[in-house]
Amino acid sequence: AGSFDEECDYLFKAVLIGDSAVGKSNLLSRISRNEFHLDSKPTIGVEFAYRNIKVGDKLIKAQIWDTAGQERFRAITSSYYRGALGALLVYDITRKNTFESVKKWLHELKEFGNPDMVIVLVGNKSDLAESRQVVVEDGHTLAQLEGLCFMETSAKQNINVEEAFLNMINKIHEITS
Ligand code: GDP
Ligand code: MG
Repeated sequence: AGSFDEECDYLFKAVLIGDSAVGKSNLLSRISRNEFHLDSKPTIGVEFAYRNIKVGDKLIKAQIWDTAGQERFRAITSSYYRGALGALLVYDITRKNTFESVKKWLHELKEFGNPDMVIVLVGNKSDLAESRQVVVEDGHTLAQLEGLCFMETSAKQNINVEEAFLNMINKIHEITS
């Protein structure tokens, strides 16, 4: 048998975006390796990871790109978005300003991204309920207004991470097949 690369039916590129420290890198490590790290480890340069997944009888290889801290300087370049069919747009439910930034990120997606891009709005750190600054309804309302899927997740407790990812992959698959 050949490698997965030879056998996979589709290769999808997806990107993680959102303010610094909302949990993008930890969502990616959950999705790709089922790992969580308590400390933030900013890496140098753009990084991506792969996740193989079966949808129906098709084998999909998702290539998921993570920013390496450029979001802090608003220095994400158009090449980051190029060819991406999906985006996980992440905010932190314990920091209202990261939710307020969602509009800015949507604007950037509209400017640089594929117009058909599947966007899932992700309110991360749902395990920190006692520090919550953004109510679930606000996430829902914004998502509805902008035509996005929406989910609250906890990368730490591994809640809804797989669901958010699958939601995106299934929608991309619907659109592209
Ligand atoms: P990034 O800058 O968006 O890539 O964020 P990181 O993935 O580096 O996470 C920033 C900090 O938030 C780290 O200390 C993580 O351990 C923490 N973190 C990420 N996701 C969660 C979560 O779901 N719950 C909690 N409590 N902490 C989280
Ligand atoms: Mg990061």
